[in-house]
Amino acid sequence: MTSKVKVLKDDIAAKMALANLYKLLNAQIDLLLNEKELKYVQELQKFCIEYEPKIDMAQDVYVHFPALGSHGYIQRLNPWKDFTDAGCKHEMLLGINLAMMDPELDLARLASGILCGNPTFQHGGTPELDKVQDELMSGKKVGCIAMTELNHGSDTVNMEAHVTKLDDGYKFDGTKVFTTNGPKADYFIGYGCVDNAQPRQTMVQAMLSRDMGITTERLTIPVVPRVHIGKTHYNGLVCPKSMVTGEPGIGYTNLFDGLVPERLAIVGSSLGIAWNVLLSGIIYCSLREQFGKPIMSFQAVSFPLAEMLIRLSSATISALRIAEIYDERILRAHRKDIPEATWKASAQWSSQIKQLCAKISHEICYETQQIMGGVSVTDNTRVTQATGVSQIQEVIGGSRGVQTLILAGNIAKLIKSL
Ligand SMILES: Cc1cc2nc3c(=O)[nH]c(=O)nc-3n(C[C@H](O)[C@H](O)[C@H](O)COP(=O)(O)OP(=O)(O)OC[C@H]3O[C@@H](n4cnc5c(N)ncnc54)[C@H](O)[C@@H]3O)c2cc1C
Repeated sequence: MTSKVKVLKDDIAAKMALANLYKLLNAQIDLLLNEKELKYVQELQKFCIEYEPKIDMAQDVYVHFPALGSHGYIQRLNPWKDFTDAGCKHEMLLGINLAMMDPELDLARLASGILCGNPTFQHGGTPELDKVQDELMSGKKVGCIAMTELNHGSDTVNMEAHVTKLDDGYKFDGTKVFTTNGPKADYFIGYGCVDNAQPRQTMVQAMLSRDMGITTERLTIPVVPRVHIGKTHYNGLVCPKSMVTGEPGIGYTNLFDGLVPERLAIVGSSLGIAWNVLLSGIIYCSLREQFGKPIMSFQAVSFPLAEMLIRLSSATISALRIAEIYDERILRAHRKDIPEATWKASAQWSSQIKQLCAKISHEICYETQQIMGGVSVTDNTRVTQATGVSQIQEVIGGSRGVQTLILAGNIAKLIKSL
């Protein structure tokens, strides 16, 4: 960490190094990984430890995309080029480790690699979409998802963006908001409906590029100052057929199928934020002395930290198990062989674990700050930056009300079936 004015003692700062955070994390998660996964995590952590000193926290995150891309770290849900060890568990491990190094960088690369990039793997196949995929995965270009609108956030399906069918493609009109990476993006996975009264039957999903005519404006979101989040105007752009990833109606199915891996990827980030902060707090409190002894020896400090460790460790075990099941039953299965019940379970589990991890990441950030005291709100530790990102983890990928709505709906269906 490079801080302007120091209030943290050098010896404590040295112990709070990223390498030590990873050492403590590994003690918690190693048993959950097979040999190949362990090797992947070791290489990823080595990259992060060596790369961290190159990060200037006053600079936007996008300058680091090519470095991530050259190591296959823009995403790891799908195999790309030589980076064949991939899947939801790999992606979650990527999110955990990157968010411990730089949670803002992790947020932006997830929007580019997963939210924008995943449709090129699942619904691509044209030379034009293959090119977009390579540009996004290499980190040479930036991607985003432009789905939410001013009047349609949680109720995203009933969007106002309109699509007009042309002979050789589609014309897109409308404005989207909260587009993470939007103001910096080259590519936008976009949505609109041919008949806005019938979104399920007519929604189109397409890879739109800035040079088709998109314009963007940056929103001010102070908790993530190094990530550009914006308002996106389609401006009647014309998208050729070769860039369409979901024809009318298929766009709707693609949107919902995509939400499951998107939410599971966000889980990785939430867990990384929480491990980042909790382990920083544990090291700091073990070394910081007041009244002649380490503050960790006071139960008012050690018990809440232990209680948070119990919750976070248990949430991590659950999340990684859900990722394994997603890999086994959905990602590596033939689409036609996947039973309806498996789709439904994956939608429920991704929502519940997303909600749980987003919430505990924010709680852990806030509680750890109170336990650590003043130093935790300065730029001397990683805690402030991570706490900022933790404030948006619940709302991105579908807010609290929507995740609980999904679960409540499932309970109601189960009761009806009795
Ligand atoms: C920092 C940030 C980054 C984002 N990035 C992107 C992005 O890259 N691309 C993109 O398309 N979108 C993005 N979003 C949008 C995000 O997905 C939406 O903010 C979210 O879906 C909620 O929509 P809303 O903010 O309009 O809230 P609203 O839908 O207006 O909801 C407001 C409140 O009402 C509750 N609520 C609404 N309906 C119900 C219901 N039926 N039952 C119970 N409670 C309900 C919600 O839970 C919420 O608490 C981002 C948002 C933020 C803040």
